[in-house]
Amino acid sequence: MDAVQHLQVYKFGGASVRDAAAIRNLAQVVQATAAGRPLLIVVSAMGKTTNALEALFQNAYAGLAHAPALAELGDFHRTVATALGSSLAEVENLLAALAEQLATVAAEADYDQQYDQIISFGELLATRIVADFLGAQWLDCRPLIRTDETWREGRVDWPVTERRIQAALPGRLATGVVVTQGFLGGTAAGATTTLGREGSDYTAAIFAYCLRAESVTIWKDVPGLLNADPKIFADTVLYPEISYAETIEMAFYGASVIHPKTLKPLADRAIPLRVKSFLDAAAPGTLIHDCQHPPLAPAFIRKTEQCLISFESKDFAFISEENLAVIFEALAQAKLKINLMQNSALSFSICADYSERRVNKLLGLMREQFRVHYNSGLFLFTVKNYDGASIISIISGRQVLLEQRTRGTFQAVCA
Ligand code: ASP
Ligand code: MG
Repeated sequence: MDAVQHLQVYKFGGASVRDAAAIRNLAQVVQATAAGRPLLIVVSAMGKTTNALEALFQNAYAGLAHAPALAELGDFHRTVATALGSSLAEVENLLAALAEQLATVAAEADYDQQYDQIISFGELLATRIVADFLGAQWLDCRPLIRTDETWREGRVDWPVTERRIQAALPGRLATGVVVTQGFLGGTAAGATTTLGREGSDYTAAIFAYCLRAESVTIWKDVPGLLNADPKIFADTVLYPEISYAETIEMAFYGASVIHPKTLKPLADRAIPLRVKSFLDAAAPGTLIHDCQHPPLAPAFIRKTEQCLISFESKDFAFISEENLAVIFEALAQAKLKINLMQNSALSFSICADYSERRVNKLLGLMREQFRVHYNSGLFLFTVKNYDGASIISIISGRQVLLEQRTRGTFQAVCA
């Protein structure tokens, strides 16, 4: 029926397409692993292109010069395409369209909406170059992945998306490899949306869900799903096998390996997710699926740029349900996402991602009724499946402002 038999979905992130050598390596990985089965490849923007486009957009929005940065971005993509012997025609078309789009950026118009129209060029450029080098079909995912108009965080309209993907993909996949963009979607009116930073993993899951793929593989520069980010923590270990539920929790606490929205669509259709190294395609990596496993090694997750906000009732009244309702309402209005909370008789504290604008908004809303204190520049450490030694390794030598533990999880807000 709607399933594409034995379909594999591969996702290659920015690091795996950072330059010509990386794209040649990508082609080898595909050749060595995907033989004979239908394959859809989801690709992110090359290297740090998304950050570069963000900076470009901010300058354009602020009315500052951006021509040199635009030229640099263009040359980067031209150089890679040329080194690969790929055609420059589509790259040039996209660069011209990007320049045109930048010229229309206006401070009066919606920031987030304009952001999406510009930032999406990273994926459009990368997929053109990769598809051309592989001799694969290039597919624009924007008419297929239908979202609402929540710019920068587009919410997927699943029924429409599923219908469109099922209508468009099986025929193409039958004729060969298809390459499409991660991170992008489109509105009913045809505007481009993005799915949230690092959202390409989610794109792979969307296609896999709609086509009932056999499996999804995320190719990364680490050997698989590790118990901590090796750039931050020493002595990491690999999880060979892990359940969807454990992985969703890790993503929720801020582990950056997999975009948090990725797991649910895959779990819903029992599609296994593999995380593998593009530097060692033969190594088994990590298999995420519906499984039981023995207790896992403790997982360490660090979130930076945190703030700790405490509310005290001004009249020495207890923090009551009514007070909490007011506080939560204000937090929602200020769009502050709570990462941890704790209450006592006279005060209520939350740890959230710091944003000056959002915290100021909150203070404005709360000052009358509560005394509000906050500290910023903090870390939130989470240890899942903790033991005594893992907690000591995290907090020793640090100033702990607040800590909390449940049976499975230890968290500390530290300076
Ligand atoms: N290129 C986008 C980003 O850097 C999406 C992704 O990498 O998944 O956020
Ligand atoms: Mg990226």
